[in-house]
This record gives sequence, C-alpha cells and structure tokens, in this order.
Amino acid sequence: MTVPDAAELALPIDAAAFRAEVNAWARRVGVHPNEIHLRSMKRKWGSCSINGRVTFDTGLLDCPARERAEVIVHELLHLKVSNHGPLFRNLLRAYLFESDGHEALVSATEPD
Ligand SMILES: [Zn+2]
Repeated sequence: MTVPDAAELALPIDAAAFRAEVNAWARRVGVHPNEIHLRSMKRKWGSCSINGRVTFDTGLLDCPARERAEVIVHELLHLKVSNHGPLFRNLLRAYLFESDGHEALVSATEPD
C-alpha cells in the first residue's frame, strides 16, 4: 500500500469524469473506441470487443486514479493489439510510465 495523494482522496469520481478520462486516454493512445460503456461487471475491470466497444466496471469509479488509468489504457490498447504479448506489455508500460514517471504496476492489474 502507498499513501494516497490528494487526487486519490477525491473519490469517487462520477461517470462523466470517467468518460472524460477514457476519451483523453484514447486520444493519447491514438485509438477511437466506437462505444464506451460503464456497468457492473463483477468478475473483471474491463473488456474490449473486436467492434471497438470498451466496457468498464463501475467499481473503477471508486479506485485510485492510478489503478483506473491502468485499466483504461489496458482496454484501449486492445483496440491496437488484441493479445497480451510483448508488444502489448511494452506499450502499456510506456503509456503508464510517461503519464506519471512511475513504473507501471502492470502485473498487479490484469483486467481480462
Ligand atoms: Zn487484456
């Protein structure tokens, strides 16, 4: 566990803020999701369909910003790379690393 920073104390965020984050990440990653859904998923944090629909668990609204970003980038990257191979992991690490200068906690979060 780490000490939460100020941003993490401002929880939860609302659905509109979450969608804004997803859209911001989509621009950064360079993908164009057709639909962004937010619903209770119970067993995973997110999913991505081949027709460009990304779905996120509503539980993410209560997660620290850092964990939320990992799930968002993970699913959005699946619009570019469908598997979890070396290219996927390198891209995931690169985006999360450049976002805040910390090593990504990639192994700790495996949304699907
Ligand atoms: Zn995945």
